[in-house]
Amino acid sequence: MNVQELTHDLVAIPSVSRDTNKEVADRSEAALLEAGFSVERLLYIDDAGVEKFNLVGKKGDGQGGLGFFSHSDTVPGDEGWEPYAPRIADGRLYGRGSCDMKGPLSASIVAASQVNANDLKHPVFIGVTSDEEVGHAGAKQISAESATLAAAWPQFAVVCEPSLMTPVYAHKGAITIVVTAHGVAAHSSTDKGESANFKMAPFLVEMSELAKEFKSNPGYRNGEFDPPTNGFNMVINDGGTAANVTAAKSVCTVCLRSMPRSGSEAIERLILERVTAYGFEVQTFGHAVFYSDRDSTLARTACELTGHEQAITVPYGTEAVTYQNFAETIVMGPGNVAQAHTVGEYIELDQLDRAVDVYRRLIKKLCQ
Ligand SMILES: [Zn+2]
Repeated sequence: MNVQELTHDLVAIPSVSRDTNKEVADRSEAALLEAGFSVERLLYIDDAGVEKFNLVGKKGDGQGGLGFFSHSDTVPGDEGWEPYAPRIADGRLYGRGSCDMKGPLSASIVAASQVNANDLKHPVFIGVTSDEEVGHAGAKQISAESATLAAAWPQFAVVCEPSLMTPVYAHKGAITIVVTAHGVAAHSSTDKGESANFKMAPFLVEMSELAKEFKSNPGYRNGEFDPPTNGFNMVINDGGTAANVTAAKSVCTVCLRSMPRSGSEAIERLILERVTAYGFEVQTFGHAVFYSDRDSTLARTACELTGHEQAITVPYGTEAVTYQNFAETIVMGPGNVAQAHTVGEYIELDQLDRAVDVYRRLIKKLCQ
């Protein structure tokens, strides 16, 4: 089984998150079967009524073992290039999803294909999920519903998102708070209106004061992350109300990148208290922090195999936030995350080869 060929085949199948991923799931399933896996296929219907498929492959018997987790959906292809006509040039494979993350997925399948099932004392798992780019629905489904995983999760999990094959033990989470003030729209000449923006204004002043505090106070930092700050940000929207009309609605969205031991929960509480005091409408959402032991067996073994002194933190989010609840987890995959979501996305061919090599050796270390 050839990693360039498999990556090529998967990239050639469009699988933007809003569309069904059936075809790319079919091709992935065929590769898993060829690599000696038994495959569980899970279906769900997304909010738009579109069929989505998730796969959980297992190879070998026994308890514990090692799982590789990837997603099969991509962001849209965008214009100005041919996103689904994969091509190889300059030692790179170009195409949408080559780096994020059909190349990494292919590397995990090819690595596992090179290991004989009879030599495994502990099983190898491969998870292939949908809808990672739009809320991690696939990862949540396999975690909640996969019979294979429910029977026994692997002891170790590698999320194969691009990290240039550097082991990652933590990344930031996100907290988003949407605050809405309501007013009454009227032409300003009538004096009958009530501007939602004027209601919102004092709250905005408070947020700008807090922003200074969140940036300067060391209590809101965590030096393990780069940057060590929580990226507190605010955007405002009154729907483009004309200057001679009072705004019916004013929406302020604040968000921060949460980290452990950096007062993230305290910030959220503080903001929600102020929202309540003003009587505004509020919605909050976000995703958790991924944080594992930097010196875990998996992190240390991965460092040993890749020649890194220590696992690192990264600023981008992954499905590790889900898998960390079930297994000792790291993020480690081929390719540079700077390529993700770009026009002209590519993955270096030697990154793919290196991933196959490292993943295969990781399987041998942890499962044989
Ligand atoms: Zn990704």
